[in-house]
Amino acid sequence: MAEPVRPYATWVEVDLQAIRDNVRWVVEQSGVAVMAIVKADGYGHGSVAVARAALQGGASWLGVARLEEALELRQAGFQTPILLLGYLSKAQMAYAIQSDLSITVWTCEQIEALEDHARRLGRKAQVHLKIDSGMGRIGVLPQDAPNLARQLVHSKHLVWEGVFTHFARADETNPAPTDQQLERFGFALEQMRPVFPPSLRIHAANSAATLTRRDALFDMVRLGIAMYGLHPSPACPLPPAFKPALSWKTILSHVKRLPAGEGISYGHIYTTQTTERIGTLPIGYADGFRRWQGNRVLVRGKKVPVVGRVCMDQCMVQLDEVPEAEAGDEVVIIGKQGDQRITAEEVASSWGTINYEVVCGIGKRVPRIYVNP
Ligand SMILES: *Cc1c(COP(=O)(O)O)cnc(C)c1O
Repeated sequence: MAEPVRPYATWVEVDLQAIRDNVRWVVEQSGVAVMAIVKADGYGHGSVAVARAALQGGASWLGVARLEEALELRQAGFQTPILLLGYLSKAQMAYAIQSDLSITVWTCEQIEALEDHARRLGRKAQVHLKIDSGMGRIGVLPQDAPNLARQLVHSKHLVWEGVFTHFARADETNPAPTDQQLERFGFALEQMRPVFPPSLRIHAANSAATLTRRDALFDMVRLGIAMYGLHPSPACPLPPAFKPALSWKTILSHVKRLPAGEGISYGHIYTTQTTERIGTLPIGYADGFRRWQGNRVLVRGKKVPVVGRVCMDQCMVQLDEVPEAEAGDEVVIIGKQGDQRITAEEVASSWGTINYEVVCGIGKRVPRIYVNP
């Protein structure tokens, strides 16, 4: 078989058309503005490329967790509104204002500090007020929101642009916890309504709520996991129109036959039973491939077991099921090969975690290659 030239040992392929189509579907079905959430380097997919594809798909806002993430997008040339969803220290405020970011606030001190920085810079700072309606993370409690609303309205150097909350359990089948959060959020909104600026944007829904709660759409949704074509949870699967964007691949770097009784990898926790064909993969825990017993990968369209301990940069597979496999073959960690597929959700369940953590955990040194750019 003619062997294609592959310039990488292990790499991620991101289908940007999948991102565009997933976003487009939400834009059309929801009928509201879409903020594409590209924190954590676009959930491990690469934030700049994902942001571009999401905007092409119809998103009009970008959302990130950290100042550094927002600055990376500004440096890449994005002039779109960017909301910093998380914590911003006082020492970072001037950078955020100068980069024209929208900043999340939930205390009186933050508002004062921002007003102060904006005044000194001779600029306006855009802010979104975060309401904690039942996540217990960041945000002002509903009953304390009106005080902050008044403070925002009286701040000369702040533009009060948005108010939002975040759901803790929108990905579960039981709607009651989300009903309660919506009720508390609604209460806060009612209390503040007399002082709302005319163009205030109200937003609440993550992917799960976007897909399941028309009553949570408000003016905008914050689309994360679904944009990447990954299921919000087993109880909240994506509609069939969505397509996963990410594949994770490596190659067989070496194949050999070992006699019975040979130990494989550190600690020799696997020993060959008979003569076995053992393959080596240039992927390890430093790439985000967990040091866990029970990993399986696709070789020649079949799922084969990883045997022995996963090393930092390499691991071994047992190839008896695929006698035709040879060095140079493409190996799939996540994605399709032939008529077989390994999903991020399957990897997550074998690792005892969620798909979010699997894709966010793919190592920085793994190149992201863009398909349909
Ligand atoms: C991460 C995040 C989102 C996106 O959540 P998904 O479940 O990935 O859609 C939305 N809003 C906030 C505040 C977030 O932190």
